[in-house]
Amino acid sequence: MVKENLREVERRIGEACARGGRSRDEVCLIAVSKTKPVEMLKEAYEAGAHVFGENKVQELCEKYDQLPADIDWHLIGHLQRNKVKYIVGKAALIHSVDSLRLAQEISREAEKKGVEVNILIEVNVAEEESKFGVSVAETEELVREAAALPHIHVQGLMTIAPQVEKSEENRPVFHALKKLAVDIKMKNIDNVSMDVLSMGMTGDYETAIEEGATMVRVGTGIFGARNYAV
Ligand SMILES: *Cc1c(COP(=O)(O)O)cnc(C)c1O
Repeated sequence: MVKENLREVERRIGEACARGGRSRDEVCLIAVSKTKPVEMLKEAYEAGAHVFGENKVQELCEKYDQLPADIDWHLIGHLQRNKVKYIVGKAALIHSVDSLRLAQEISREAEKKGVEVNILIEVNVAEEESKFGVSVAETEELVREAAALPHIHVQGLMTIAPQVEKSEENRPVFHALKKLAVDIKMKNIDNVSMDVLSMGMTGDYETAIEEGATMVRVGTGIFGARNYAV
């Protein structure tokens, strides 16, 4: 099942890249494995998925210990400052930095552990009340502040687009995030690359790729629906 799903997602990514005039290797597929058992992750790993996304620190750490060491683990969910110490050194990329205090905590912990941490700034492009992330207007300031901290590298931006009926409805959101990244990149801020754009999930990743996503976070499309009741 997982293997077939992955193949289908791969096919669609390839087509979206072609439509958007992108090369396939510009887009990284993150297999979002939250709530799914380790057996399913192993299946995905055997089928070629080597980048996994989790939204909870504890779950990421548990799976980290049980799966091969050449996996890149991405933290895609909201991060509380008191959990930072558990994740630094394990996450290859933290997608969800949305405050200076959080960035400072990551920097402090990275210093303690003697590591460097790659982060994205989470932007609430659609300004949904229920979502984390800074506004478009606040993004550059947080990028500058975070970039000035030691042991942190700001690699780009992430957004969680609204739940919509048709992925087309999110095109303006993806377009806006891409534009914001380009605008910030042009300012040539020290220690900021802005080369990573994490946007697009199962319902809309093809549209996100057409609009410039370099990372898509696909859960349901690979592992099937999640059952939070279990
Ligand atoms: C769960 C989750 C996803 C994956 O969602 P699907 O719709 O299952 O693909 C992507 N990004 C974040 C931040 C998530 O929490």
